[in-house]
Amino acid sequence: MAKINGCVGVTTNPNVTNYWQDVYIVQSLLKKAAKKTGNADYDPILADGIILPFMSRTVSCIKAFQGRFMGTPDGVISPNKTTIAKLSEFEDAPVTPDPPPPIEGPALPVDGSGCNFPLRVPPPPHKHWRKPKNYNARGRYFGAVRWSTDGNGVILGYRKHAGVDLITAFGTPIYAVADGTMGPYVRNFRNGTGAITVIHPNFIVRYGETTHRAFFKEGDPIEQGQQIGEVGDVGKTRMLHFEMYSDTSSARGLTDTSQKLTDEFSRKLSKFRRRKDLIDPSPYLDMWKSNLP
Ligand SMILES: [Zn+2]
Repeated sequence: MAKINGCVGVTTNPNVTNYWQDVYIVQSLLKKAAKKTGNADYDPILADGIILPFMSRTVSCIKAFQGRFMGTPDGVISPNKTTIAKLSEFEDAPVTPDPPPPIEGPALPVDGSGCNFPLRVPPPPHKHWRKPKNYNARGRYFGAVRWSTDGNGVILGYRKHAGVDLITAFGTPIYAVADGTMGPYVRNFRNGTGAITVIHPNFIVRYGETTHRAFFKEGDPIEQGQQIGEVGDVGKTRMLHFEMYSDTSSARGLTDTSQKLTDEFSRKLSKFRRRKDLIDPSPYLDMWKSNLP
């Protein structure tokens, strides 16, 4: 078993010392585990011996790895305990990829095989796009609680989040997930950002909350993996808002404001306010995150 001299992980835990050498050993083992399982959620990207107090990717990776065998990952690795023992198994282990995540519910409405992720770096696991156990207002997942306000911030009603938010930095390049044709551009999508629509062979993607810098014009052919835009500035949190539609016959009328807002948020009654062929992008993003542009 790999030898660490103190605890590694969550900096608010008083037992955690995060000695440089220990952190480096853990990061190196996490990288091996990510490579040998094919699970990018375990990959801290940098093995630099450093864990910063806030938003540490290494801590997210520790928790993701602990999810393999712990019900409630605590993000702390203690010497001679289970997590370091399990991680050490990857020191010299042969390559055995994790099984792909189970696909829940009916078969996916459109074939998304062979496509790539729309960003070069997927968001870290703690900002993941899958719905957590409980609905929450700031969720980034498909179907999360959203509301519309008037000019004075008064809530007019509730709706469902029609896409998945991939949190990243302002200006981050956005890449086409597949070949396609540039569709209509939405100039005022949200808080002064735009939205790029691309008609791909099996589905339409609306890449939302972009800057207004135009890389292509409507009707231009697009190749898979080409940069088509960049993440815009909606305010505090910047993201690619990613929507998918299954009907490729038209890329117009994706937003449908004739669907009424509801007075309260309801899983059953609240509407997406989108065209009826809107689909959940999460299983596709799961599939594509191991194929980066
Ligand atoms: Zn969004």
